[in-house]
Amino acid sequence: MSSRPTAIEARDLKKYYPIRKGLLGRIVGQVKAVQGVSFSIDKGKTYALVGESGCGKTTTSRVVLRLRPPTAGKVLWNGNDIWDLEGRGLRDFQRKVQAVFQDPVGSMNPRMKVRRIVAEPIRLGKLELDSTDEIDTVVKALESVDLHADDLERYPHEFSGGQRQRIAIARALVVDPELIVLDEPVSALDVSVRAQIMNLLGELQQSKNLSYLLIAHHLATVRYLSDTIGVMYLGRIVEEGTAAQIVDNPQHPYSQALVEASLPAVPGMRDEIETIRYEVSSPINPPQGCEFHPRCPEAMDICSAVRPPLVKLEDGRRVACHLHPRAEMSLENPTVKSASDKEEREA
Ligand code: SF4
Repeated sequence: MSSRPTAIEARDLKKYYPIRKGLLGRIVGQVKAVQGVSFSIDKGKTYALVGESGCGKTTTSRVVLRLRPPTAGKVLWNGNDIWDLEGRGLRDFQRKVQAVFQDPVGSMNPRMKVRRIVAEPIRLGKLELDSTDEIDTVVKALESVDLHADDLERYPHEFSGGQRQRIAIARALVVDPELIVLDEPVSALDVSVRAQIMNLLGELQQSKNLSYLLIAHHLATVRYLSDTIGVMYLGRIVEEGTAAQIVDNPQHPYSQALVEASLPAVPGMRDEIETIRYEVSSPINPPQGCEFHPRCPEAMDICSAVRPPLVKLEDGRRVACHLHPRAEMSLENPTVKSASDKEEREA
């Protein structure tokens, strides 16, 4: 277990959305977007949540940012549940936890100049800076992402995609955050600038001791910035380990398929790359047993009947798959060795 202080911790997070029907909006079902996710991020470290779209990683990040309330579970920041914060404590959280989203264009008002865009968190956080101090702080944030004071009076459309993402990063940095949620920070950018932005994020993390929650669908994107990777499938973490464990030696068949899918296409390897078969199942009516079993090339009889618990292996990683012996008791519920679907439906 790490002795570093914790930046933030998610405990057994669940997020369900009701499905309503008819004029009266009767609830006829639930979308189970997040089904009991736990992780913690050490200060100065990066935790990456990786999976296909619809796996619940973005919903998890919205709950951690306090943009959506959880259906159950907690997010602990400095020992307090973020949903209990109010007044000054809430303002501190909103300042110290910032976000950079996938689409820098969509997250910026095109009619605002860079000086106002980057200063937004200062104003939202009600930081009392006079106008000279505010400009100095904005320029410092711009310089930390290799932009300049000359850029203050320009509009977003005057910049390239990579430069706009630098502006978005400067906007997050301007209030001196401790944790930044990076939601697919390079997936909308040209391949040629992705490495530059990831390198910049790595340098900023080192110089400012930042913690990151990194959301991505591509393992290759997160490999070098991540300390820990959690692989999500249909709302659950199915494997969690160090970046080297997950990328170089994945143990869950879904992690293996993600790794193979992130390799460059090589003639003769196509069959392996296509191990992720079929479409991801619906979170409204997930499969019984292991939710990955309809797509899993290793599925056994037990897989469609019993959902495997998340257990810790000898090398310290956590994995939820019947292929792996239960090295310890279930980490999801130490009193129950495996959770049946019936139990879950009745919960
Ligand atoms: Fe595949 Fe079974 Fe493991 Fe699920 S539990 S990943 S179906 S082998």
